[in-house]
Amino acid sequence: MLCRVCQSEISQFMSFGDMPIANGFLTDDRFESEYFFELAPSFCNRCNMFQLIEQPEPERMFHENYAFFSSISRYMQIHFKAFADFVMERVLDGRNDPFVLELGSNDGIMLRNFKDAGVRHLGIEPSSNVANVARSQGIQTLSEFFNLDLAERVLREHGQADAVLAANVMCHIPDINTIAAGIARLLKSDGILMFEDPYLGDMIEKTSYDQIYDEHVFIFSATSVTWSFGQHGLELIDVIPQITHGGSMRYVLAPEGSHPVSQNVNDLLEKEQAQGLHRKETYDQFRRNCEASRDALRSVLELLQNSSKRVVGYGATSKSTTITNYCELGPEHIEFISDTTPIKQGKYTPGMHIPVKPYEVFSRNYPEYALLFAWNHAQEIFEKEEGFKKQGGKWITYVPKVEILE
Ligand SMILES: [Zn+2]
Repeated sequence: MLCRVCQSEISQFMSFGDMPIANGFLTDDRFESEYFFELAPSFCNRCNMFQLIEQPEPERMFHENYAFFSSISRYMQIHFKAFADFVMERVLDGRNDPFVLELGSNDGIMLRNFKDAGVRHLGIEPSSNVANVARSQGIQTLSEFFNLDLAERVLREHGQADAVLAANVMCHIPDINTIAAGIARLLKSDGILMFEDPYLGDMIEKTSYDQIYDEHVFIFSATSVTWSFGQHGLELIDVIPQITHGGSMRYVLAPEGSHPVSQNVNDLLEKEQAQGLHRKETYDQFRRNCEASRDALRSVLELLQNSSKRVVGYGATSKSTTITNYCELGPEHIEFISDTTPIKQGKYTPGMHIPVKPYEVFSRNYPEYALLFAWNHAQEIFEKEEGFKKQGGKWITYVPKVEILE
């Protein structure tokens, strides 16, 4: 297997086993035909990119039934408003009739803010159901996959971009070289590329291995971003840590030499060296940490099962698919998973087939334990669920370690 960035020989350092599509919530008549692939990460010694060995074809993951609508979370709405404000102040301010392009614009959660400010914008969103939501709100959106042809077409129809943005999207795209070349082609000579994705340093530190699932073909670091985008003349000029998704990084890039490089970049590169993100041993230790976390979570749930306690999952997230399948947690451990997304309700979780039920089913009859799959929104959830706690309910978490919160 060759590295997707630099074509060096790479091999997997661990396997999470057969995995279904993380967002592939399904009805019981589809159990027989469910698709599986081997979820196995690798690390490239040369360019330091953390990547999946195998990724399902994009059409299996992003389609007209895509089950993730960004705007469902109020917290994410606030986050993307702040992201858009940051771009307007830091990049667009003072520019004449600027143009903003967003890759993977979902239901328009970020572009809405540019539209409201009267800024020329375009979203690229291959999942047509979420793209339709954006279009219905007047947000310019194309339902296609981004590639060089599309970059040329955008260039012809809209001109060069002042800013290209992406959030939780860049890490989805296996052909990163094509994407980087397309963006380099599209950006003005003083344009800015800004994207944010789950951050490798946080994942290694917290053993939050549930960041690893089909959609995330890459988990980036400042080191690997410098290498991969540097090949296409784009320079990392700033890095800004984000708390979203349990630890993300916003990378700011620009055509080489066009902008000063912030001290933050050097600081983070040094920190990554100190953390050993370039060393094979770090990933061997990560594998052992994943195995220990899996064994601990399984024993907690088996113990509760043996004492006939009711355990309900909280948040049927994409990330939960890696947890339930790797730890082999099924309906015998988890009665159901509560989720507010209508498209998931009445269906079953990928692979382990735990029923997904509306939030009201949880709140009407609290279980004794709730396994917090949406751990990255823990604070927001704990505040909302005081009633559960008052009735004696206990939370189970697994990041950064497996524990029952008293
Ligand atoms: Zn490589």
